[in-house]
Amino acid sequence: MNKIKLLKLYFLLIISLVCSLFMDNSGSSASKSVSSDYVSVSSSNKDILDLNTSNSATFANYILYLNKQKKDNDSNNVDLSDPASASSVSEIDSDSDNKDSDKSKDDKSKDDKSSDNQDSSNEYTVDEKVPKGKIKVKKLPKYLFEKEKFKLKVKLKVDGKKVKTKFKFKSSKKKVITVSKKGKLKAHKDGKAKITIKSKTGAKFKFKVKVKDTGKLVALTFDDGPGAETPRLLEAMKKLDYHGTFFVVGKYATNAKDLMKKMLKNGNEIGIHSWNHDSYAYMAQSSVEADIKKMKEMIKDKTGYKPFLVRPPYGAKNDATIAAIKNKNCACVMWNTNIEDYLTTSASVVENNIMSRVHPGAILVIHDSHKWSVDGVIAAMKRLKDKGYELCSISEFTKVKKLSTAPGQIISGTAN
Ligand SMILES: [Zn+2]
Repeated sequence: MNKIKLLKLYFLLIISLVCSLFMDNSGSSASKSVSSDYVSVSSSNKDILDLNTSNSATFANYILYLNKQKKDNDSNNVDLSDPASASSVSEIDSDSDNKDSDKSKDDKSKDDKSSDNQDSSNEYTVDEKVPKGKIKVKKLPKYLFEKEKFKLKVKLKVDGKKVKTKFKFKSSKKKVITVSKKGKLKAHKDGKAKITIKSKTGAKFKFKVKVKDTGKLVALTFDDGPGAETPRLLEAMKKLDYHGTFFVVGKYATNAKDLMKKMLKNGNEIGIHSWNHDSYAYMAQSSVEADIKKMKEMIKDKTGYKPFLVRPPYGAKNDATIAAIKNKNCACVMWNTNIEDYLTTSASVVENNIMSRVHPGAILVIHDSHKWSVDGVIAAMKRLKDKGYELCSISEFTKVKKLSTAPGQIISGTAN
């Protein structure tokens, strides 16, 4: 009997040993298979965009993450945000149609930085420790002009908390837009490109950017508002991806805080057109300076934006006017294409004047204080879009045309 009992004990011991070995293996292989999983969702046009990454792989990863975090807290050291701390955890390649696995192995053995200019997802490694999370991009550019640059501000959030990680950037059309290792976009020629951002944890984010041709660039400027017609104009401009500069009158603008905020939010800019629409040419220099100061403070107070462009009422100016504008650190914006919408009350006359007088390099002056002007410009904008014109703000215009906006400068458009 003793002999049988002893055999039974041996038997149990062997079984439990085998079991514990088996469980270790299954545990580690499960973690490897889930963490090489990608989720991709493309999206567009919001200021801040999220990726939906809620799947079982993320959840399994998250459990691992929590367990590891608990262990780490116990031993009271490893920084989760530091990629170097990942050395204690195994890294694995994502295995989907791996074309050059040798290269990816090489990259893995090198420093992280060396793999930045490789734009294949194949050598991409996933850190088991941090779940893939959500990539968030602050302020996406809707469009860029040729030669324009734009720095992307990207972060990874896991469970609402920011996690430090590296990102890879890729452009689908490098002739249209290139993107640097640090996420700086550079527009080259007109067209569209898809930009992909990947985090080291496996989160993915895509968006499209349009590059506008600057061959038919026109600056759109509006005086004498804001008024009852302005919101409608803002909507029409937004639909066509057009920007403009609104030279506002202080006595109206001071009661139109939300409208001014909307102008800015839509990519427009705000300029100064005096507080009372009195002619600066008949005012003492010190009075003009005081008027500009009052306008600057009001606009800054209502919107947070610091205006630096002045259009004198009636376009009336003399040396003292320019000196005052310069002393208040502003540039003076005139025009080269007057639509003369104040000489009519007909929307079709306004529309026809725009269509017959517009040319590349034009700065158009229109008044958003009149219903017929707004109707006319909305009708003309659609036709201008079809003809390939790009309508923009003074800041965009001067940037593309390389015109100075230094204090005291007079800007009035270009011949073509
Ligand atoms: Zn005016």
